[in-house]
Amino acid sequence: MRSTTFVLSPNTPPTREIVEFDVLFDTNYDWGDATVDPTVMDLQNIATHEIGHGVGLDDIYESACSEVTMYGYSTSGETKKRTLTAPDITGVQKLYGGF
Ligand SMILES: [Zn+2]
Repeated sequence: MRSTTFVLSPNTPPTREIVEFDVLFDTNYDWGDATVDPTVMDLQNIATHEIGHGVGLDDIYESACSEVTMYGYSTSGETKKRTLTAPDITGVQKLYGGF
């Protein structure tokens, strides 16, 4: 899975602006709803993670962060990344400002 983000900043002072991002799903995997079929890669689970990349978040590979949506590893049947965790939200707030 891969996502690409294009960020342009025509403003002065510079601001973050997402112009476009694409998410590509590897067709070598079986995709679906893992709550129905735990042998598939859960589309919502992975899409939430990849959209995190789309807004500028990086993967986290520390095992202590395995419950975080931006944790860089996943398995078929996993659904825990369908929602954001507090560290994911904090990361977005750091990039775009708290609200
Ligand atoms: Zn990732």
